[in-house]
Amino acid sequence: MQNRRSFLTRAAAGLAAAGASVGLERAVGGPQETAPGERYELSNESVRVALDSEGRLVELTNRQTGHSYLAKGGRHAPWRMYYRWSTPLDGALELEIPTDGQKARIRRDGNALELSYETLTGAVPQTGKTRQLQIGLTVRISLEGDRLIWTARIDNREKDKDLEISELWLPWIYGIGDMGMGPGADVLYWPTRGGRRIEAPYNRLMAAAGTPAEPTGFGSNPTWLYSDTGAPDYRLTYPYPSCMQWFTFNNGQEGLYFGSHDKTLMTTVLNVADGAMNRRISAWEPARALADDEKVMSASIVKFPFVRAEETWNSEPVVVRLYRGDWHEAARTYRAWADTWMRKPDPPQWVRRIPGWASITLKGQSGRIRAGYAELPAALKRAQATGVDLLKVDGWNKQGFDDYYPEYSTDEAMGGEAGLKKALAEIKEAGGRSFLYTQGQLIDPASEWYRTNGRRVAARDIWGYEYRETYGGSGSGALMGVFRNKWFGVACPAAPGWVEQLISQAKLVLGFGAQGVFYDQLGGAPPYLCFSTEHQHSKPSLAVGPWKVRNFQRLREVIKAQDPDALFAIELVVDCYAGWVDLIHSEGVGFYADPESFGEMFRYTFPEAIVTNRVQGPEQSDRKTQFGHAFSLGLRFEGVGRGQDPYVIRLIELYKTHADILLEGRFVDNDGFLCDNSRVSSHAFVAENRMAVTLWNPGNVPQRARVEAPGYQLERADWQDPSWSGPDHWLMPGDVAVLIFRRA
Ligand SMILES: [Zn+2]
Repeated sequence: MQNRRSFLTRAAAGLAAAGASVGLERAVGGPQETAPGERYELSNESVRVALDSEGRLVELTNRQTGHSYLAKGGRHAPWRMYYRWSTPLDGALELEIPTDGQKARIRRDGNALELSYETLTGAVPQTGKTRQLQIGLTVRISLEGDRLIWTARIDNREKDKDLEISELWLPWIYGIGDMGMGPGADVLYWPTRGGRRIEAPYNRLMAAAGTPAEPTGFGSNPTWLYSDTGAPDYRLTYPYPSCMQWFTFNNGQEGLYFGSHDKTLMTTVLNVADGAMNRRISAWEPARALADDEKVMSASIVKFPFVRAEETWNSEPVVVRLYRGDWHEAARTYRAWADTWMRKPDPPQWVRRIPGWASITLKGQSGRIRAGYAELPAALKRAQATGVDLLKVDGWNKQGFDDYYPEYSTDEAMGGEAGLKKALAEIKEAGGRSFLYTQGQLIDPASEWYRTNGRRVAARDIWGYEYRETYGGSGSGALMGVFRNKWFGVACPAAPGWVEQLISQAKLVLGFGAQGVFYDQLGGAPPYLCFSTEHQHSKPSLAVGPWKVRNFQRLREVIKAQDPDALFAIELVVDCYAGWVDLIHSEGVGFYADPESFGEMFRYTFPEAIVTNRVQGPEQSDRKTQFGHAFSLGLRFEGVGRGQDPYVIRLIELYKTHADILLEGRFVDNDGFLCDNSRVSSHAFVAENRMAVTLWNPGNVPQRARVEAPGYQLERADWQDPSWSGPDHWLMPGDVAVLIFRRA
């Protein structure tokens, strides 16, 4: 144990020097050997960044605009760290290594600043006590143009096998105020699902500081609950529910980009918070007001390196860019990096041109059969009457939807294997296509498969117990409607044998004569830290991202070897998985209409991915809102064909009429044209020398909009009312229009 007094003395000296408020948690301090007031600076024509002699970030300025992004407030070194020591029986799972009060050495090395610590002082399980850790930390900040590249090295020289560096926040930029036009002008572009556009994040966080935590998430699955409301902060895991590992603050003129340029796909948390650095995240902790020097924002990329005794770990880079322009510039920054290594989608031609799919569920979780195989051709016929030729079949298996995963067999009561094959053949003859549902990761502990294989495959938590997720509830009875019916285990993608199971599902389904296979949840679901020692991952945080990518590669090879035209479809949207599949069923905000919904964020960054909408959210019963929003973004339609809906039928008709641009073209958001009415949602798609602009009136009063596309000439206009033509009509509430331009 380090002498506690010396730690406190140094901390107190730092406090006096900084004139900060007193309190161990906010203690600041530093080495005595560096002259007080010394400043270490990196500067060029774009950026100036500076650390003080104690390693605290004291300046972050966009020199192109002259705006400083740090507000008046506390100053801290630009990192945070935690370690884990044994279990809570004789240790603790989350012990802080305080950011401040550590003995830092700072040096300038060309275009870089290096902040290093030979050893660190960390908390121990007894409150208020500390010890010295034989842990070295080096943080390197390189300036390249308008970018700061952050990397870290952690040397764990401890001998104690139970001591691991569990998490590193790098950078942890503390003290963010606004982007130069006041906090009310800023927007936080946040990659939840398809994207969220959070106006005035500073004001939101300050207002939320005095309110209890309000986690939102996914039904009754506590594991999906990631606070995403701003109360008390925004935090999001990648891969999923974050669809990309970047975010930006932007005021329309300039902004601050945070990009985790991490090809290892380590499970990561994106975090934007207020300045209360040591507040616990729990619903029952009383909320407290912020001290004056905490009235700032912090933003961070959090990694879980689990650096073990006698191990050295080098981080992947995080890029912080101080740029000019609107949020698209940040998106292009990330996309340029993704282009250096991420696979791009390569779907079959027929998939590129589908407007959406219809779906049917045959057998539910309760075992009740809603329809048999013989009824599938009629379901296709209903779909075709709306303009859709693709049918997704759920609950086709004897086990029913959400039962006994991953066991799949045909059901005699529904018509048997011969009946299923006959029905799928009839669909094909009628010019349709079918694809069949399978699960991508849930394992039902009630299944025989679980008893023979599943125990070894399931992802395990830090205690060695299996993670559990629950899905269920159906019908009008209380047995299934009130009580949870199923608690599933979740397959670890790195578990031996799991990818072979997924492959067998594709072979089974394609063998029945379907044109494709669907894997539910495979494109996302929480990136669990898996602590199983029987799996192939080298770290708990490398269990999901990199192993899912490997599994996608294998699956794609097998499916395409069987039939190059077969559809490989999944649920959930994440950039690094999207390139491996043909079609993605989305989930969450961005993909349904909502005041903060901003699917533009993913669509603009990765326009090649073919993604459906999701009928969800507070306005899910309003079909015009659901499908108008989807149409405006070029999202394919899920679950159409259940009823005759003239509105949706017209949208499908417009998709098919302009499939070469709206479906096969590139979504460019609002690049290249001007629309004079901001109450009309307008987006462009380009293909060769033509551009389509979609208009959608999401409000409840009629609107008119004029669109000008410099360098283009209007060629055609199509409206909700098929009898209208020409450029100038009212858009009634919920209505859409498509304007086709040709380059002059
Ligand atoms: Zn595992």
